[in-house]
Amino acid sequence: MTSGGLARVVIVGAGFGGLTAARALAEAPVRVTLIDRRNYHTFQPLLYQVATAGLSPGEIAAPIRSILRSQRNTEVLMAEVQGFDLDRRMVKTDAAEIPYDYLMVAAGASHAYFGHDEWEPLAPGLKTIEDALEIRRRVFLAFELAERQVSAGGDAPPLNFVIVGAGPTGVELAGTLAEICHHALTHEFRSIDPSRAHILLLEGGPRVLAAYPDDLSHSAMEQLQRLGVDVRTATMVSRIEPGAVHFGDTRLEAAVILWAAGVAASDLGKKLGAPTDRAGRVMVQPNLSIPGHPEVFVIGDLAALKDAHGAMLPGVAQVAIQQGNFAAKLICQNLESGTPVDARFHYWNKGSLATIGRAAAVAEFGKIHISGFLAWLAWLFVHIFFLIGFRNRILVFIQWAFSYFTYERGARLITGSTSLPGWSSASSPEAKSGPQENRSSAAD
Ligand SMILES: Cc1cc2nc3c(=O)[nH]c(=O)nc-3n(C[C@H](O)[C@H](O)[C@H](O)COP(=O)(O)OP(=O)(O)OC[C@H]3O[C@@H](n4cnc5c(N)ncnc54)[C@H](O)[C@@H]3O)c2cc1C
Repeated sequence: MTSGGLARVVIVGAGFGGLTAARALAEAPVRVTLIDRRNYHTFQPLLYQVATAGLSPGEIAAPIRSILRSQRNTEVLMAEVQGFDLDRRMVKTDAAEIPYDYLMVAAGASHAYFGHDEWEPLAPGLKTIEDALEIRRRVFLAFELAERQVSAGGDAPPLNFVIVGAGPTGVELAGTLAEICHHALTHEFRSIDPSRAHILLLEGGPRVLAAYPDDLSHSAMEQLQRLGVDVRTATMVSRIEPGAVHFGDTRLEAAVILWAAGVAASDLGKKLGAPTDRAGRVMVQPNLSIPGHPEVFVIGDLAALKDAHGAMLPGVAQVAIQQGNFAAKLICQNLESGTPVDARFHYWNKGSLATIGRAAAVAEFGKIHISGFLAWLAWLFVHIFFLIGFRNRILVFIQWAFSYFTYERGARLITGSTSLPGWSSASSPEAKSGPQENRSSAAD
């Protein structure tokens, strides 16, 4: 034992998995150290709302220290974990080495560009608050640059917004962008017509929301089209350059390109020395520990585990939450019995929900499939219920009620740089020549 007779449990990552595990250990006779590179927990399912100016960052995130303030056995450290020494039972951070008796790694995942990392600055993905703010900046800046250009006598630029990948994130981004163009911005510009913007959702596979049953996937496609999204399935992106995307024989100029196509596990997984799958997820044992180390657990998006039917568990919040609870309980049982207890993790699928836009969503609860307004209501209430912090729940509820009736998206702040990849400086009011022919020549 590392500290005063109490076992020390070190948890890496205060996302859904790590935070749940820390809370589940609140009454346990252990000392908990929760490490995260950020000082806040992000409610990732609502990141797209920040990216599309429906909510502000503080409404979907909460300080980890404040969430756990009354949990006396838990300390929170803000540090970057860089590796592990499993023999010495040490976590290596950018600040110090931290000893543990039990280790739980819940470092999540980030984007995968399938070998094209150079596309990342041109087509940002959505995983963190910073990503959401960058997407928000690009989306609303595109309208401002277009207005400025036309107001200065230039041609109206093609306002194409391209989203690559029609999983839940791509679908919610596309649907909400369509809503913004057709409703939220309609009366605010004098020189351009935002409703003429073109929202294009590109999907390499044969259908949108591929993880959902056929009927819901079909319904999602129809709901997207009703919202004005141009959906192209079986369409692979072959190249992205500043301000343009290539697919098939087409090169399309795009004011904003967003990436929602691939997920790669945190590289901390590989540093544990355990086997990993192609996405870098750690292939854990049925009790979520890694081979040869019953004291080391990997949970959430970083863990690869199959269910009883042989299907890989999805990278969703419920899996991470249930695994956090399971691993915390198992640590307590191991401590009580003094030896590793035999146990298996079983995932209880409570259902899946994906939102598409205003009054548009799909939901699957076992054999019950619903879509449209009812599914959207279910989505709203589930997300408010699971949002961390009473303050955030109230704020989000008020914001959503307000924007439902007014179509208003109040957090439309453009912060940071005022240039877009591929948006030529020749398009600016100062430029003498027409904007269109130069659009793809300059980079950010
Ligand atoms: C845009 C988006 C929308 C989503 N929508 C839904 C949805 O509607 N429903 C649903 O069920 N799921 C959804 N998900 C998936 C869900 O958010 C994840 O499955 C879940 O967050 C996984 O939890 P986790 O604890 O494994 O990792 P995360 O929640 O990603 O947490 C990982 C934590 O580890 C920290 N960390 C990472 N590396 C280090 C390091 N080296 N040092 C220190 N700290 C580190 C990070 O800062 C982070 O706090 C969505 C995900 C995204 C990105």
